Amino acid sequence: MNISIEERLGLVSFEIDNEKHIKVDTSLCSECDEKTCLYFCPTKRFTLENGKIKHDYEGCIECGTCKFACPKGVVDFNYPRGGYGVYYKYG
Ligand code: SF4
Ligand code: SF4
Repeated sequence: MNISIEERLGLVSFEIDNEKHIKVDTSLCSECDEKTCLYFCPTKRFTLENGKIKHDYEGCIECGTCKFACPKGVVDFNYPRGGYGVYYKYG
């Protein structure tokens, strides 16, 4: 069954922290030809805007893929503070 990202995110809810739990040092992104973050993030938190990588931590499902899959290791992934982050409604 194919369901959209928006429909998938409808199965979870978020308590958004004002403190970013993921920080991306984008200073090396211009040297990254692959830009694999545009593909590996299951919730499409990485986007390319005007040639620059943007990361939006809201809507992150805390899978941790970006911590290991970024070829330049510029993603500083941490879990959100207690009481914040994703809540899974099912499963
Ligand atoms: S994969 Fe990593 S280094 Fe490459 S553009 Fe994305 S965040 Fe930047
Ligand atoms: S932890 Fe997973 S969902 Fe969150 S930004 Fe990284 S790859 Fe995307």
